Order: sequence, then C-alpha cells, then structure tokens
Amino acid sequence: MAEAAGPSSPPPILAKRRRVTNAPEDLDFETTEGVKAIASFEEMGIEEELLRGIYQYGFEKPSAIQQRAVMPIIQGRDVIAQAQSGTGKTSMIALTVCQRVETSLREVQALILSPTRELAAQTEKVILAIGDFINIQAHSCIGGKSVGEDIRKLEHGVHVVSGTPGRVCDMIKRRTLRTRNIKMLVLDESDEMLSRGFKDQIYDVYRYLPPELQVVLISATLPHEILEMTSKFMTDPVRILVKRDELTLEGIKQFFVAVEREEWKFDTLCDLYDTLTITQAVIFCNTKRKVDWLTEKMRSNNFTVSAMHGDMPQKERDAIMTEFRAGTTRVLITTDVWARGIDVQQVSLVINYDLPNNRELYIHRIGRSGRYGRKGVAINFVKSDDIKILRDIEQYYSTQIDEMPMNVADLI
Ligand code: ADP
Ligand code: MG
Repeated sequence: MAEAAGPSSPPPILAKRRRVTNAPEDLDFETTEGVKAIASFEEMGIEEELLRGIYQYGFEKPSAIQQRAVMPIIQGRDVIAQAQSGTGKTSMIALTVCQRVETSLREVQALILSPTRELAAQTEKVILAIGDFINIQAHSCIGGKSVGEDIRKLEHGVHVVSGTPGRVCDMIKRRTLRTRNIKMLVLDESDEMLSRGFKDQIYDVYRYLPPELQVVLISATLPHEILEMTSKFMTDPVRILVKRDELTLEGIKQFFVAVEREEWKFDTLCDLYDTLTITQAVIFCNTKRKVDWLTEKMRSNNFTVSAMHGDMPQKERDAIMTEFRAGTTRVLITTDVWARGIDVQQVSLVINYDLPNNRELYIHRIGRSGRYGRKGVAINFVKSDDIKILRDIEQYYSTQIDEMPMNVADLI
C-alpha cells in the first residue's frame, strides 16, 4: 500500500493496518473513554501480599488487557473485556477477584462461572496460587464431583466460588452456597455463557444474587447480539474491545490441507504424527462419536493418543487432563469441550480434523496454541465442500490461511 503520500493527500481508506508485534503486552483496543493502560502491577494499587503472589506465579508485568481492565474491575465497575486468546484474561479474573474480596470475611464474595468443568477448576487453581499469601479460600463447584465434598467445603467457608452453572445453581438452591455477600459475578467465556445453551441457567443463578452486584464479562469473542443484551444486567459498563480484524494472533500460523474426501483425513493425520509429537497437539473433532472412532483407529494403527469428551466419567476426564498437563501424553483428540479457556502452554499445534461449526469456535480452538506470545500452528483439514467455510473464516477475521507447506514441522 502507498503509505508515503504527501501531507495534503487523504489517508488511504482501504489500507489494512497490520500489527507489527504480537506481544501480549502490546495489543490494540477500542475502549470506553477514560480507560488508561497502566504498565505495572504496583501502580494498580494491588495489596502487597497479593503482589507477592503475582510475582511468585511468574507474572512480571501486566498484559495489554490487564493494563486496561484490572483497574476498573478492582474499582468495582461493571466491565466487558475482550482480548485475544492466551493474553491473560482468565488470569486477570483470578487476580482481580483476590484483590476484591475481604479475606477476614469467610463468606462467598465472588462467583465465577465458566462453561466447562475443566476451565472452572483451572481458574480455581490459579486463584489459589496467586492468592496464596493472602490466604484466599476458593472452591470449584462443578458437576461430576461429590456433592458432599461441595457441601463440606462451602460450609467450612470460602471467599470465592469458581463453577459451572448447573452445580452452582444446585448449591444455591440447597442454601449451601449463601449468596448474601456476593458482590461480584464474573462470566468467563461470556459469549458462550450467554448463548442459548446456558442463558437460562445463568439467569437462574443471577436472580439469587444481591441487587448491588458488579458484573464482569470476559471473552476473546463477543458477537454483536451478546453485546446488545448486556444492558439488561449491567450498569454503565466499561468496555474494552478488540476489532475483529485484530483478533487472530500473528504468532499462530494457520494452514489448510485439502483432503477432497473424508477418508483421506485419517492418512493425512498419520503422516503428521511426528509433527504432532514435537511438543503437544490437540485434535478437534465435531462429535464425541468421532473422537471415539478416531482414537480407536489411531490406536489400532499403533499411534499413541489420548482422548477426552463430555460423555466420559469425570474421574477419567480429570486423569486425562492431569496427564496432558504434565506432558506425559502428547496428542489429545477431543471435542469443543476443550475449545475454550484451557491453558496448556506446551500446546503448539492444533488440528481441526473437522472444521468448527461457527466462526467463534475457530478462534477459540486455534487459541489453544500460541499461549502468551508463544508460537503456534493450526492446521485445518478441508474437504472440497469445506473450502468455502474456510475462506469465510479467513475473510471474517481478515487473516490468512495458506496451504500447508512441506516444512511445517520447522514452524513449531
Ligand atoms: P486467556 O484467558 O486470555 O486465554 P490466560 O489467563 O489463560 O489467557 O493466560 C494464558 C497464559 O499466559 C497462562 O499460562 C498464564 O499463566 C500466562 N499469563 C497471564 N498473564 C500473564 C502475565 N501478566 N505475565 C506472564 N504470563 C501471563
Ligand atoms: Mg481464558
């Protein structure tokens, strides 16, 4: 594009501005007036023992979204915060919740809702780690776990609950989770939480919460219809948003492999197996049955893979997560239960064995790689009639998805 125009000529309208950096500390936003970027955690007025926890956890300086959203959240404002995958949104929930609660009061003061049990549990772990020096008491309230243990933990007294809507609602209705002192509701992956599948359950929880409630919405994707409904339950929210064409990360290289027919996908995957195991890889299928089928087929061809989906008993899901997080297993075949929020830094490759059913899921799936500025590669298997869908994604996010090169392994 002709950048070097004379001083009197108008700026080129169609020139697409490309980011020159992909650092999680340095990204662009569209914000409500008055939102400032604060470059260090100290300047945010975070209490000393919490700061100690943040540094000990390994965070030296705030990411771009943390620089802008932490202050309004700890000041008690309603906030809608969007930022690219892996740039510290969920971590920001953990640290702001720790700052907001009064640890001398052993009552639930903050409630975080997430779409999957694994994400709710992950967030609880981050809170416990960062809040170690302030003695934060947190509990993950999730389906598939012992109700008795939930009751015991909640009766004992916790400051923060991180949960999935069904179990949280159950605990509220039993009056085991007392809502009287809750001053903060956070919806992580909020577009998913407010979508058809979850909306009624969220409302069910919401009506038990005190009227003077701070509401915080977080996600990498916030479609219009979701933003439009926020006026119903938020007051004058501070908005920190990302333009659609800035949403894909430069650090995640995206490719496609044209497979023509479904049957060819399997051989393509086998050919890629060595590449998958360079670090760790996640393979997405669109159904649980397909996950089972592919896992079985890979194993019968002597490839080592693990698998996870929502029909497995929670014990098994937990065991698979533990192994994968530890790096004991390297290749995970899964459904969209894994698409959002899960943070395993070693994942550098995502395969869409099936293309996702919507544009938002695409962003979330590929965002399992390239965490916090790391390199990532996403490979899409596309049948002839899928090419249109891929081109649509490419155009929607103004991104580039090239044919997979021979040397793809060098990019990981
Ligand atoms: P998101 O929710 O935006 O996808 P996460 O909060 O899950 O991102 O964070 C992604 C990774 O980045 C995690 O491994 C987290 O520990 C790390 N991280 C988050 N904030 C910081 C920070 N300020 N400095 C260094 N690493 C960070
Ligand atoms: Mg997250």
